[in-house]
Amino acid sequence: MNLILLGPPGAGKGTQAKTLQEKFGFIQLSTGDMLRTAVAAGSEIGQKAKAVMERGELVSDEIVTGIISERIDQPDCKDGFILDGFPRTVAQAQALDDMLAEKNMKLNIVIEMRVDDEKLVDRVVGRYTCADCGEGYHVTYKRPAVEGVCDKCQSKEFKRREDDNAETVRGRLQSYHAQTAPLITYYGARGKLKTIDGMASIKAVSEQIQEILNGLGK
Ligand code: AMP
Repeated sequence: MNLILLGPPGAGKGTQAKTLQEKFGFIQLSTGDMLRTAVAAGSEIGQKAKAVMERGELVSDEIVTGIISERIDQPDCKDGFILDGFPRTVAQAQALDDMLAEKNMKLNIVIEMRVDDEKLVDRVVGRYTCADCGEGYHVTYKRPAVEGVCDKCQSKEFKRREDDNAETVRGRLQSYHAQTAPLITYYGARGKLKTIDGMASIKAVSEQIQEILNGLGK
């Protein structure tokens, strides 16, 4: 099963992708995570991406398409993957179609997570992760059971993304509406799109996704 989770920053794509990965073993492919790793490593791609990401703008189609193409070739992706944050432009969607056709792979479904813009700034600005295992938290919506201790790995170290500030989030939302939202029409026209309510609880969103996958026979 190869799927895309489509939605603006803060829609919950990463959270749901992690759940799907745990449940079914589909691999979460987050271009944002891959780019942050490249920035931290100071690689050539990282150096090109750093300032663009800090402004909340989009990194070039060539860079992200290249890193996804390489990653999909790894053996762990052969039983399924979840694209989280890719594609983000129509050009990337076209490149993905070509790439999958070339690799004899196919896209099963695109799940659009619909959320209110006003809620997103609050969701993104309040989120943080465990610095050791990456488990996601939120200052209001998902605190650890024991304050200051990760539920999953008991680490006491947490971190926030540098671009999760109110100003950058507004830029990222603008990028989403201008460049990514046209993908809703793109995949709708190809009969690949299902839309769910991303405002529901994490568990309820997970159930909606599960229902869609059940309908596809997974
Ligand atoms: P994310 O973690 O998905 O919110 O991505 C963080 C940042 O990485 C975005 O604001 C972009 O600057 C960059 N980025 C991630 N994925 C893409 C993509 N598919 N195309 C262009 N830029 C991307």
